[in-house]
Amino acid sequence: MLPRILIVEDEPAIADTLVYALKTEGFAPQWCQTGGEALRAVAADGIALVILDVGLPDLSGFEVCKRIRARSAVPILFLTARQAEVDRVVGLEIGGDDYVVKPFSPREIAARVKAILRRSPQPARNVIRDKPPADSAGFAVDEERCEIRFNDAPLPLTRHEYRLLKTLVARPGRVFSRDELMAAAWDDPGASFDRTVDAHIKTLRAKLRAVAPDADPIETRRGLGYALRPPG
Ligand code: CA
Repeated sequence: MLPRILIVEDEPAIADTLVYALKTEGFAPQWCQTGGEALRAVAADGIALVILDVGLPDLSGFEVCKRIRARSAVPILFLTARQAEVDRVVGLEIGGDDYVVKPFSPREIAARVKAILRRSPQPARNVIRDKPPADSAGFAVDEERCEIRFNDAPLPLTRHEYRLLKTLVARPGRVFSRDELMAAAWDDPGASFDRTVDAHIKTLRAKLRAVAPDADPIETRRGLGYALRPPG
């Protein structure tokens, strides 16, 4: 998937040249004209970087940046029109990653975008901070959505995988026997076999490896069952 770049700029002519330049460089630009739209777009997630004009019709770019930073660490490249704005971008701790002064060449913007993305690990940096906090083992369970995130990546889990992992994550270090896991994750445990648990642990491990190839958070305790490796 191409990295999505949000362009927040109320002047269509400037936005057009940016959209064109970013498409040419292999990005998927998305344009909006107001700070309000920008905040909604960032909240919806999936934005790799924000190009943010300081002078917007509703909120100032500084205010937009501040509100984005309350929720997300997505990289922000400011577009400024005046020296006074540059002074504020540089002088204040508002959380911008870089700035470009108007008038600029679209190629310069594309080069800056690439440089910023190179030094920011993606997509982990654009973490919406009001998601359930991950515990130290890197898991975050969202019971309402029946979703588990590992290292901030949502895991595509089946119902049984979700219940199994939720059980393990709830008590890091605690060894669960296959019978206990069966009882926790299956509505009718009697209809399944011990090796059903093993088969689901295997698919779970594959899904965790897809997120973090070197992590092996589920431990097999021979003759006993399974446990989530305690952090540290
Ligand atoms: Ca403007």
